[in-house]
This record gives sequence, C-alpha cells and structure tokens, in this order.
Amino acid sequence: MNSRLLKVDMHVHTHPFSPCSTTTPHEAIEAAINAGMDVLVFTDHDTIWLGQEIDELQQWAGGQLRLLAGIEVSCLEGHFLVYGLDKVDGLRYNMPVKELIGIARRREAAVIAAHPFRFSMECGNNCYQLDIDAVEVDSSNTSQTAQALAVKLATQRNLPRIYASDAHCPRDVGSYHTLLSGPIDTIADLVREIKNAKRGYVIPK
Ligand SMILES: [Zn+2]
Ligand SMILES: [Zn+2]
Repeated sequence: MNSRLLKVDMHVHTHPFSPCSTTTPHEAIEAAINAGMDVLVFTDHDTIWLGQEIDELQQWAGGQLRLLAGIEVSCLEGHFLVYGLDKVDGLRYNMPVKELIGIARRREAAVIAAHPFRFSMECGNNCYQLDIDAVEVDSSNTSQTAQALAVKLATQRNLPRIYASDAHCPRDVGSYHTLLSGPIDTIADLVREIKNAKRGYVIPK
C-alpha cells in the first residue's frame, strides 16, 4: 500500500531523558514534521520511552508522522542504537556490547553502531567483529574522517548504511535521515526494514 520510500530519522535526543539535548519531545515532533519526516524515533541515552507516553505524543502529532521509541545504550565499547526493546531490564550503563547484543538477539531487536569512529579508532574497529545489523555512517555528530571510516566498515561488512541526525536541538532533527520501504507503523516494522535495507541515502541540510 505504501510504495514510496519513507524518510526516517531514527536517532533523536529529547530533554530531559537526554540531559545533553535542548529539545522537548513536542519540539522534536514539530521539527520532524517541518523537515518532512515520515517516521521519527526517539533514542534517548540509556532511557526508553514507554508505549503509553509515545501513544500520547503520537496523538498530539496527528497523522503526519509516525513516532517510535528506540534507545541509545552507552556500552564499554561505545554507543549503540537498539530498536525493538520494550523495557530496559538487563540493560545498564557501560555494559559490554556483546551482552547487549545477546539481549537484543533474544528479543529480535536491531542493533546499530552509532557514530562508531567518533570516540576512538578502537571503538569503530571493534565493530568489524560484532554481530550488528547496520552502521550509522553520517549524522550531525560525525566528522568527515569518521564518516569515511564508517562507510568502509559498512561496505566491508556488507551492512546497511544508516543516516540519522543524532539531533540534540530542534534545527538538527531530520537533517540526516534514511529512506526505508514502508509501511512503518510499529517498531517491529522498523526493525524489519533496517535488516532489509541494502543502502541508505543521505540528504544533508
Ligand atoms: Zn552517541
Ligand atoms: Zn545520540
């Protein structure tokens, strides 16, 4: 039914769940609609929105935008975006990434390396051995050098390239996004499309 590709920003931080973000959830929704996004995914640091809270925000957003919730987990080895977990049981700050991946696999969630070369080469190079589903290759938070290394990682691993804003302020929401096939109405739909994606497209601001 939905044959066109959907614009998905799957890496956005809101305040106060992400203290480093200045964006309220309502501001993020407005900014995503203004940027033409079809799907917006909140990925706050080590915090996941409850379905009920998302349902209320979805009602506020109306029919123009699908709102979903993932999480950005701070692991010992770096940051990883996870989609498909409905609670944070078993997740903890600075956990080993292999433990996180084990939890994600049991729940059929998707795991993406976020800005893998932002913190250190070691962080990104670790991803050559990890059972991840995709690589975030560009964002508002990624240098050109880190972007090139992430593209190389995705290419060598034959993993989908994800473009996402990593927005911490309203103007960045939607500035980077991935085009995915639809329909995407649930987090399970998003997980399926991430795993099916062969390539992403970037449309910088
Ligand atoms: Zn991060
Ligand atoms: Zn982030």
